[in-house]
Amino acid sequence: MEYEAVIGLETHVQLKTRSKMWCGCANAFGAPPNTNVCPVCLGLPGVLPVPNEEALRLTVLTGLLLHCEIPRRAKFDRKNYFYPDMPKNYQLSQYDQPSTLGGHLDFEFGGGIHRTRLTRAHLEEDVGKSTHFDRHSGVDFNRAGVPLLEIVSEPDLTSADMAYAYLNALKDVLVHGGISDCDMEKGMVRCDVNVSVRPRGSQELGAKIEIKNMNSFSGVRRALEYEIPRQIQAVERGEKLIQSTRRWDDVAGITEEMRTKEDAHDYRYFPCPDLMPLEPSDDWLAAVRARMTELPLARKQRFMRDYQLPAGDAEVFKNDVPLGDYFEASAKHAPNPKAVANWIINNLQARLSEANERLAAEQAAMGLEAGEVKSLTLPGLKFPPEALTELVALVDAGKISSKIAQDVFAEMFDSGERPGAIVERKGLLQVSDTGALEQFCDQAIAANPGPAADFKAGKTAALNFLKGQVMKLSRGKANPALVGEILEHKLKA
Ligand SMILES: [Zn+2]
Repeated sequence: MEYEAVIGLETHVQLKTRSKMWCGCANAFGAPPNTNVCPVCLGLPGVLPVPNEEALRLTVLTGLLLHCEIPRRAKFDRKNYFYPDMPKNYQLSQYDQPSTLGGHLDFEFGGGIHRTRLTRAHLEEDVGKSTHFDRHSGVDFNRAGVPLLEIVSEPDLTSADMAYAYLNALKDVLVHGGISDCDMEKGMVRCDVNVSVRPRGSQELGAKIEIKNMNSFSGVRRALEYEIPRQIQAVERGEKLIQSTRRWDDVAGITEEMRTKEDAHDYRYFPCPDLMPLEPSDDWLAAVRARMTELPLARKQRFMRDYQLPAGDAEVFKNDVPLGDYFEASAKHAPNPKAVANWIINNLQARLSEANERLAAEQAAMGLEAGEVKSLTLPGLKFPPEALTELVALVDAGKISSKIAQDVFAEMFDSGERPGAIVERKGLLQVSDTGALEQFCDQAIAANPGPAADFKAGKTAALNFLKGQVMKLSRGKANPALVGEILEHKLKA
């Protein structure tokens, strides 16, 4: 029998705020343990939480970007449990009235667009971090109270690779939207997975098994690559799987049972009496709506549609937003947007990284630390996007050859002078005047009787050699198409 997996994901991301969720402590990674703490995030008696408004805005912004419904009333609840990294003995979360409901995420998978429905995205707080040493354990509360968004998907995913694609697309939206940096190295993203298996085509859901403790997308993929065959083999052996929670061991590459349904936690959720319900006003919602950005996938599709770019080029501009913006500013008025994309992807990026390598070497020679002097980025370019439009138009109109255009581009990059001005100053206009070209062709034929005879004898490749000689004589300015025609005409005469 063939089996299929049914997968849902719960993705926790730290929001990009300057301070924590309920106090003024910094939301910052890497400080010495227990230095970004105060009585509120340490859960000392008698303190009251004050909601971080930016975290509320980022939550609703996420909801808008993911096509969720934004309820006009939401609230915070206490999720009660004991753990050493949580001094209050409850975590503030949104239980039955979250800030966003429903929604979906579209992403590219298997050559098409896959839509995964979302259940909700709700706001909660992070807890501290335990570290176990040889003879003792320590808790760092710097992370306690950092705003955490939990994005819950419906069980619409059917493979480890599809889950991986979903997570990357979700990350794209969150990073582009300015909601989270999603830096996995810094623990900003953590995932729980719900997975079951069933005979392909069956509508019934198998026993749901939750896998916890994954802090990378590749970890999620590996855990699923382990867990799905494990479940299928168990079912095939005739075992009855029961609802349970498992832990992913990233080093061993296996999942292990933590607890079964029988001892599942009862969190005794109840509304937090210290916090008012959230009732966003029309003006407040409008201000959040104004911060919406184009979704990465929509941007890629628009670049392919509006500028006839191949998927690969559009993908580059989707992933690098400033580069895509630069492309668009230049391509909008260009006769040939694909040529603009080529200049940016093939030439501009290479020049930028060359310039930055040079800068880094100079800085090292001066004894400066890396990063002390800023590297060259798009805003630091000496020429505006319109200059690139101008260059492409010069090539397109046959005024300069593409070879000359390379030299003009190098000069633009170094001096910032406009391409039209460079061409004029250096006399680089392509020679399309047949009289002048005929002279060059006569010279080339006279100086190279061998290849000329070869061509007459039927070796058509000899024409390219003669064409090259004419280009040399004209110092690259001859119009190559015209040169070809004239040479052929002369040699066949
Ligand atoms: Zn604090």
